[in-house]
Amino acid sequence: MTTLPVTEPPRRELTLVQPEPRGRRATLPPRHLADLDQAGRRAAVAALGEREFRAGQLSTHYFGRFERDPGRMTDIPAATRDRLAGDLLPHLLTPVRELSCDDGRTRKTLWRLHDGSLVESVLMGYQDRVTVCVSSQAGCGMACPFCATGQAGLTRNLSTAEIVDQVVWFAGQAARGDLPGCPDRLSRVVFMGMGEPLANYNRVVDAVRRLTAPAPEGLGLSQRHITVSTVGLVPAMRRLAGEELSVTLALSLHAPDDGLRDELVPVNQRWKVAEVLDAAWSYAAVTGRRVSIEYAMIRDVNDQPWRADLLGRLLAGQLAHVNLIPLNPTPGSRWDASPKPVEREFARRLRAAGVPTTVRDTRGRDIDGACGQLAAADVARAAANVVQAARDGHHGKEREAAQ
Ligand code: SAH
Repeated sequence: MTTLPVTEPPRRELTLVQPEPRGRRATLPPRHLADLDQAGRRAAVAALGEREFRAGQLSTHYFGRFERDPGRMTDIPAATRDRLAGDLLPHLLTPVRELSCDDGRTRKTLWRLHDGSLVESVLMGYQDRVTVCVSSQAGCGMACPFCATGQAGLTRNLSTAEIVDQVVWFAGQAARGDLPGCPDRLSRVVFMGMGEPLANYNRVVDAVRRLTAPAPEGLGLSQRHITVSTVGLVPAMRRLAGEELSVTLALSLHAPDDGLRDELVPVNQRWKVAEVLDAAWSYAAVTGRRVSIEYAMIRDVNDQPWRADLLGRLLAGQLAHVNLIPLNPTPGSRWDASPKPVEREFARRLRAAGVPTTVRDTRGRDIDGACGQLAAADVARAAANVVQAARDGHHGKEREAAQ
């Protein structure tokens, strides 16, 4: 037990592994081109009675030109392209809300999936790069008490194509020159939207393969420009190290001591700080990639100088850097971001211990750009609609959205 003001217990059981409830298949979307590798696409095209090279043409449209409208695939005969697109390019993501700030260089999209689930993605354009933050699950089962997504629980895993399609949408926007003053090529992907990527392991790894395969098989992004962020599912971290992928691993540590981390990141009750850091260092050793240690700065909770010193001792000499994230307070929470002088002192102590430390850019705050808040707001609104609909005596689509 801790005497710090950190008494909000995890509100639910953790959902470490996505259970496979009966009928779950029905909630996954129809199969899409991006779910398949090239061989799978050729087989799918052949099964439709079409020539196999059409798989390459369709892939070039989708991954090379971000084109999903069969009407514009004029190198394929009309009847064929309708059949191919009908089978291999089902509509997966419907934009429900789009918000932007920073002169259009930060954009957030809330998507409705085919079963009414809501997920979000954020695009961040800079002078030298365009980054998209994607969701890997609808909701999340990890129950971190400071995270808006964590409050709603897990709805379901996203399919590989539902993950990839978030990136392809934004890659298309960047290519059209919609982001003023930014490159027209989307270059980075971070798995820091909704969900715990390593709890949807196979689909996330498949999505990484699609994103990094050269066109037309995939988007041709560099593996080093992909960041997978995790609460610290140790067996999955070790498995990822064996994939021969050189993606960047981000570990959401948030506390250097088990007493506090058990509360802030409840999965710590299963895998302790020492174990999770050990898995991170193995990942760094195998891949040669510096691990990013994520640390949300929460006022009077995890921001004490002694915790900075303890963290510094744990990380010194390792292939790691610390990314301090000013807490984005979730609605209704009594936790707040650390004051700037406290944050600066925390960073100073880490650097003094020889640990490279940066403070995360807080882009998109004015559009609830961080951490599940837009979807959380919409789920709340949808739930209110359900109540209203029940009063009115009918059940609308909102009901699905709220579940
Ligand atoms: N489940 C993964 C990825 C999603 S969240 C993970 O936990 O790593 C991406 C990062 O945002 C994580 O480090 C997470 O702890 C952090 N985060 C979540 N809610 C936050 C909030 N309200 N303020 C600041 N950071 C938050």
